[in-house]
Amino acid sequence: MKTFCGRANPTTGAMEWLEEDENYDYHQEIARSRYADMLHDKDRNVKYYQGIRAAVSRVKERGEKAIVLDIGTGTGLLSMMAASAGADFCYAIEVFKPMANAAVKIVEKNGFCDKIKVINKHSTEVTVGPDGDMQCRANILVTELFDTELIGEGALPTYEHAHKYLVQEGCEAVPHRATVYVQLVESKRMWSWNKLFPVHVEAEDGEKIIVSPSEMENCPGVPSVCDIQLNQMPSSDFTILSDVVTMFSVDFSKPVRSASTYYRVQLEPVKSGKAQIVLSWWDIDMDPSGMINCTMAPYWVKSTSAFQWRDHWMQCVYFLPNEEPVLQGEKVYLTACRDEYSVWYKLQKARGEEENKADVRVESPVCRCQAHLLWNRPRFGELNDQNRTRQYIESLMKVLKTDSVCLCISDGSLLPVLAHYLGAKQLLIKTVAFFYFKFFKANHLEDKIKIIEARPELLTSSQLEDKKISVLVGEPFFTTSLLPWHNLYFWYARTAVTSHLTNNVTVLPQSASLHMMIVEFQDLWRIRSPCGTCEGFDVQTMDDMIKNSLNFRESKEAEPHPLWEYPCKSLSDPQEVLTFDFRKTVPQHCLSTEGSVNLSRKGKSHGAVLWMEYHLAADISVSTGPIQISNEKGNCEWNPHCKQAVYFFSSVIESETLSDLPSAVTYAINFNTKTGEIAMDFQL
Ligand code: SAH
Repeated sequence: MKTFCGRANPTTGAMEWLEEDENYDYHQEIARSRYADMLHDKDRNVKYYQGIRAAVSRVKERGEKAIVLDIGTGTGLLSMMAASAGADFCYAIEVFKPMANAAVKIVEKNGFCDKIKVINKHSTEVTVGPDGDMQCRANILVTELFDTELIGEGALPTYEHAHKYLVQEGCEAVPHRATVYVQLVESKRMWSWNKLFPVHVEAEDGEKIIVSPSEMENCPGVPSVCDIQLNQMPSSDFTILSDVVTMFSVDFSKPVRSASTYYRVQLEPVKSGKAQIVLSWWDIDMDPSGMINCTMAPYWVKSTSAFQWRDHWMQCVYFLPNEEPVLQGEKVYLTACRDEYSVWYKLQKARGEEENKADVRVESPVCRCQAHLLWNRPRFGELNDQNRTRQYIESLMKVLKTDSVCLCISDGSLLPVLAHYLGAKQLLIKTVAFFYFKFFKANHLEDKIKIIEARPELLTSSQLEDKKISVLVGEPFFTTSLLPWHNLYFWYARTAVTSHLTNNVTVLPQSASLHMMIVEFQDLWRIRSPCGTCEGFDVQTMDDMIKNSLNFRESKEAEPHPLWEYPCKSLSDPQEVLTFDFRKTVPQHCLSTEGSVNLSRKGKSHGAVLWMEYHLAADISVSTGPIQISNEKGNCEWNPHCKQAVYFFSSVIESETLSDLPSAVTYAINFNTKTGEIAMDFQL
């Protein structure tokens, strides 16, 4: 069956109706899912297997039959482990239909049909009894329902329900327990993802400072977790203020309560500084003794020998509502509040215990300043990047005149404010207004900059106060952009407002270019790599399913990844492949290019990385791609605020051994100006 879905095209801005196969969501879910990554997580799999064997033995030693409940079975992996370990029967519950179907096939292929019953239901819908889904309650509870924040995928309510209705009292649980750890740090880099730092502008009439509204000062921000590959954060980017402490733990073998609550620990800072960030991760003990432990601890906490790369579990960064100076040795209280699905933190000075307790409120954080609704964390980081701001300031100084009428087209941009301080007389911006009112008020700019809320093609002369625009600026940045070239929306907007521009209008950036490089990933290739067998179980059905979903769209697509979190080495020099001239309107015809890139370093060509560069003014460009590439090894350092586009070469990723390394990669890239889409093809 086909359905039609309406959406605004991220590049052209046009409303379009796409015909979608009704399975499209399923395919997206599977193609972008973390199943492959979980199956590659050797450390996790081995420890689950050990834990499951130990639990089955304990039950057998008691002379009982081992009846397993596996909630969220996915491929059926943990149930197959249990059956192999001697379990008498397993109930494998999976809510996601395509996965439940896959589990049925995989269980059958591995010969466990008589031991494992796959039930395609949410666990809370499962019935127990002679006519129910389960004949009786289970005495072993196995699950893997954890996300980076531990509880974000609903593990607590699921356990709470399972203990009430699906398992016996005193059951064995694998994992047995989870523990959440925290460490207090000061980090300008991470804090810059949460607050807008004052921006200094050297104007002709002295230094001007752009400030944020006072509401931002104590704003708790948004509740969504900030999960990152903390192992890619160099130790020079943060200062440790406390030891690692246990914040809370959950015993999964006992009844679990999911209702909102809080936990509190006393910390003695090991160093004086500004407490800004709580770093957090968890570990799981697969058995009660704690001998089988799987940990997400970052590199400075655990020995590197035990290191396992994984993307399905990372580490969390929590922002305190405001920074708090702490003194070495002077005790403070850290409180973790949680509801059913998320966690947030507060820090208090050690006053009277009672006084502190009265302060604890467990409502989830809500952004009061509106900035956190407009800017996500990488965007905060980008706006706080002083080098980047300096380049925009220099460029604006080159193009602005005292009689400039300036229109800015970008979401949540500081450019209008910079342009105002640099002398432009008239400024108009086209943007989401809600935050700007507060922001302009804080900077006394209400009557200096006019906010126009209109789609570019609907812009009228009267909205522009009958003025022609002499300078059109954009970063460009749009919140709807996922892939680097989606910000070409600026070009379409520029084309739509052409009748409002003066003949000799200056457009900043004057042009953009698309760049490409062939890379070998240290680890990221794993998320696209087939698994074959996992701990001795044939899971090829899953590989085929992922492949089918990836090929669902006719042409293969590039996907966005923040590469500062995923180390890679360049195998070719970066190459400019397409340019887009913003001084002219978007052409009718397609822009296409073909060519080949030489591979100058040895390695596996896992894929091509693509990014945009913006040419602001003569000699000034900003890049959303690599900042630095080391000469000898080719290790890349990437722009820390942007996602780059990654096009995986499946032929390389899927072959175990590549006998001949290619010496060049040929490419064909086509930018369809009608649809705003970039199609690409590579041959090795
Ligand atoms: N157990 C597998 C897969 C884990 S992924 C493995 O370890 O490899 C978690 C799976 O649980 C997902 O497929 C998700 O759809 C499913 N799930 C999450 N909560 C569930 C619930 N309450 N009931 C049934 N399935 C659930």
